[in-house]
Amino acid sequence: MFDSLSDRLTGALKDLRGKGKLSDADIDRTCREIRLALLDADVSLPVVRGFIARIKERAKGSEVSGALNPAQQIVKIVNEELVGILGGETRRINFAKTPPTVIMLAGLQGAGKTTLAGKLSAWLKKQGHTPLLVACDLQRPGAVSQLQIVGERANTPVFAPHPGTSIGGEGELGVSAADPVEVARAGIAEARSKQHDIVIVDTAGRLGIDTELMAQAAGIRDAVQPDEILFVVDAMIGQDAVTTAEAFAEGVGFTGVVLTKLDGDARGGAALSVREVTGRPIMFASSGEKLEEFDTFHPDRMASRILG
Ligand code: GDP
Repeated sequence: MFDSLSDRLTGALKDLRGKGKLSDADIDRTCREIRLALLDADVSLPVVRGFIARIKERAKGSEVSGALNPAQQIVKIVNEELVGILGGETRRINFAKTPPTVIMLAGLQGAGKTTLAGKLSAWLKKQGHTPLLVACDLQRPGAVSQLQIVGERANTPVFAPHPGTSIGGEGELGVSAADPVEVARAGIAEARSKQHDIVIVDTAGRLGIDTELMAQAAGIRDAVQPDEILFVVDAMIGQDAVTTAEAFAEGVGFTGVVLTKLDGDARGGAALSVREVTGRPIMFASSGEKLEEFDTFHPDRMASRILG
């Protein structure tokens, strides 16, 4: 992951080592290399432009620290700017003052929402929470049973509309199996009555962005008033993540991003662009199919990893 970007950035910065003083030409050359490395990693152009402009300005400015030589100074600046575009501080879940905390998942089909629902519940359970999963992806055949398998693995109950497939409440729901908004509402009521302190609502995704999908997700959002809406995005789609994120930001809105498939051949473009473009923090990262291959996203650790 990020190997190529990481090699190129460290390579560009290594060339500065041993120089007692950096000329503007040195800085320009290094910035050009960093710019190309970021563009090849599929980072969005406006993000690259802003990033390079800030580095140039800081490197050529009077920012001098006695303890660091000029090359170390630039490495420090690049590191700080990377942390900045990755979001700065680690962003934690915003829990509701009165439970249950409602977390809604949104994103394209195949992004990893259902897998994430299991990972997130296992992670929350470890911290003493009692999540309930609610199956609102009623579009894709098999989505409900997939969530149930995930729920079993994470040892978390799943609320679903189909008789005989939900844990608790089946047959008494009186909700239409075809209406995800009703299922979401009934899921919240179920969580209240069974004292689950967190509800994770899985929603339907399409292969591409479409208005019907957005309207449905917005309907669920309005019905359950989530404390967090997590936009789940496959890191391997690179800059397309930005286009998708913008469409979801406009159609549904979201409070945080979850990057999935960071174990794949991700070049870094999605991770480095999505925060800056949407203004929303990356909150979690998923790096495999197993339940435990998931963690809180730490911008500083990711930046250190990218800089080797
Ligand atoms: P959904 O359509 O958004 O609910 O996506 P799914 O949760 O069904 O995931 C789609 C595919 O991606 C499945 O085969 C998952 O096992 C796989 N997947 C999800 N997260 C990850 C991840 O972090 N790494 C890898 N390698 N595969 C993942």
